[in-house]
Amino acid sequence: MDISYIINELGEDRASYLNSVAPPIFQTAMFSSNTVAEMRELLQYEAERPFYTRGNNPTTDLLRKKMAALEKAEDALIFGSGSAAIAAAVLAQLQTGDHVVCVKKPYSWTNKLMTVFLPRFGIETTLVDGTDAANYERAIRPSTKVLYLESPNSWTYELQDIEAVVKIAKKHGLVTVMDNSWATPLYQTPIEMGIDLVAHSGTKYIAGHSDAVAGILCGSQAMMRKIFASEYMALGGIISPFNAWLLLRGLRTLPTRMERVSQTTEKVVAFLDQHPLVEKVYFPFLEHHPQYELAKKQMKKPSGLFSIQVKADTIEQAEAFCNHLNRFLLAVSWGAYESLIFPACTLYASEIYKSPDLPWNMVRISIGLDEPDVLINDLAQALEAMQKA
Ligand SMILES: *Cc1c(COP(=O)(O)O)cnc(C)c1O
Repeated sequence: MDISYIINELGEDRASYLNSVAPPIFQTAMFSSNTVAEMRELLQYEAERPFYTRGNNPTTDLLRKKMAALEKAEDALIFGSGSAAIAAAVLAQLQTGDHVVCVKKPYSWTNKLMTVFLPRFGIETTLVDGTDAANYERAIRPSTKVLYLESPNSWTYELQDIEAVVKIAKKHGLVTVMDNSWATPLYQTPIEMGIDLVAHSGTKYIAGHSDAVAGILCGSQAMMRKIFASEYMALGGIISPFNAWLLLRGLRTLPTRMERVSQTTEKVVAFLDQHPLVEKVYFPFLEHHPQYELAKKQMKKPSGLFSIQVKADTIEQAEAFCNHLNRFLLAVSWGAYESLIFPACTLYASEIYKSPDLPWNMVRISIGLDEPDVLINDLAQALEAMQKA
């Protein structure tokens, strides 16, 4: 199936909606039956047929089919946030006494799930340096059930060798769960490399317009059925039909947006990489990056999220760099039409992130759809202003 077929045609049932080109939003909590027998039958197929929107809704189901096809998975489930998808995927594999091996420095709330939430239920996690797959194997215990990957990981964009980690998991009979938000299914398809469950923050590139929070989980039909019948229905972290529709709309332009973002990012990164006031650029598609070959092997292209460390003497100078940017909004999240910055030093005063392990002069940058020269000029003037601050 080609990508434009998946995005434009797969699952669209236009003839049954008066040939409406855009799909309708089924903004309803439930669907009625004509007879008791019909209702009884529908109850058997809650995951597949419209019955109650916590389980199935046709607008959400259309997104589900497209996301499964894009990830080359048998099935998908759509959640109200990326964190809900990740939590459901991980929880579904675990019981009290079990153990998880997780890449270190994953997304902040994945870290919380692993190190604060799961221990409440007697589940332990070991965080490992994932740049060497052997570290996963070394951390395995008899009680290990899950190997968790996020490649590239958050903030520092270190890769895990997906095929090597999968090999270890298969040898020990473990389930692999991977966060694929950074690359999107267009640029990396972990299920083809043997990963069992792939999660996305749909809030980022898939929605793409900073107007919806959403999550996606892809995997085999058997695993999706199991998760549907437990975490999905019991914890109920579902998406609203309207937000599912916003993601469908985002998907229509995903290839074009990614192409543009990827090209702009390579230009901006090349500029920053040679700039004397930039100490370090964290971006796996830089030719001198130690994992450049692996990046090219397992991903088609880069997306637009990376970090830099600015050459500042003080936090005030680092803040001056951020405050002087005119074309980047200061905000969390990433992956949408607008360009964004998130300075690590904002984490230093927050209760939630008590001991940040990110340098205070680090700034995360998300490249949007702006003209490359506009962004480069803006970064150049802010770096100059930083030096004078
Ligand atoms: C944002 C993010 C998440 C969480 O997604 P939400 O949709 O915000 O719940 C998970 N993983 C990564 C890498 C993220 O950046």
